Amino acid sequence: MLKKVLITGSSRGIGEGIARSLQECGYEVILHGKSVSERLKQIAKELNAEHLVFDVGNTQECQAVLKQRFQEDALWGVVLNAGITDDNTFVALLEENWKGVINTNLNSFYNVLNPVLMPMVRKKQGRVIVMSSVSGIMGNRGQTNYSASKAGLIGAAKSLAIELASRNITVNVVAPGLIDTEMTQEHLFLEEIIKMIPAKRSGNVQEVANLVKFLMSEEASYITKQVIGVNGGLC
Ligand code: NDP
Repeated sequence: MLKKVLITGSSRGIGEGIARSLQECGYEVILHGKSVSERLKQIAKELNAEHLVFDVGNTQECQAVLKQRFQEDALWGVVLNAGITDDNTFVALLEENWKGVINTNLNSFYNVLNPVLMPMVRKKQGRVIVMSSVSGIMGNRGQTNYSASKAGLIGAAKSLAIELASRNITVNVVAPGLIDTEMTQEHLFLEEIIKMIPAKRSGNVQEVANLVKFLMSEEASYITKQVIGVNGGLC
């Protein structure tokens, strides 16, 4: 039987790239989006893959979909990738900008992982990969909300790694720098950031997927509680 991996936010961008790469490596990928977009349906058709739809910020919705689906059919891996930005300088930030980003990016850690982990714990095997950001490590102008959410994920992942290590489940954090996707097209300070990157360019989706592929593999069995950057030397 193929190892099943759920990749949240795989309807486009980094998540889509990860799903394509993992499928090439022989995993059974389970795609996910917030809604049933044409793009999600197209990728699912191309990869002949199952796709799930739920809002990662909605605890009840996640419990309802994920508990039922994975109770008796444990995942090998989860890539907690879905996320949003809602940038503005802090003084101009509204309560909804703050809470929306924290809810989608950070509360999803509980919402998605809590319902799927017990079956993995029983099987004593697996991989959890959490998508943070360079912004959660070094901060970024216009992203107090996003940085807080991504830094929070690092703390949560490290604690979970300690709890799950004896069950042979590794928990690692991938922290990309500036990667070419729809998310970064509208970035407030794009030019400024590229100047700060030692590699003098943004990264691409495949460069993130390559790391996820390794962390997902059997070969990465003694790597846990780590935060690994894919950032062209930015931090
Ligand atoms: P995109 O905006 O291209 O894609 C975001 C994905 O997340 C989509 O699949 C979207 O689904 C899904 N999503 C967003 N909100 C929700 C929600 N509430 N519930 C369910 N799914 C949701 O983003 P990227 O591919 O650029 O980013 C992927 C991850 O990588 C994010 O966590 C981001 O913070 C992180 N990251 C990105 C960087 C970059 O430079 N691009 C740098 C560092 C980190 P749908 O299509 O249905 O809306």
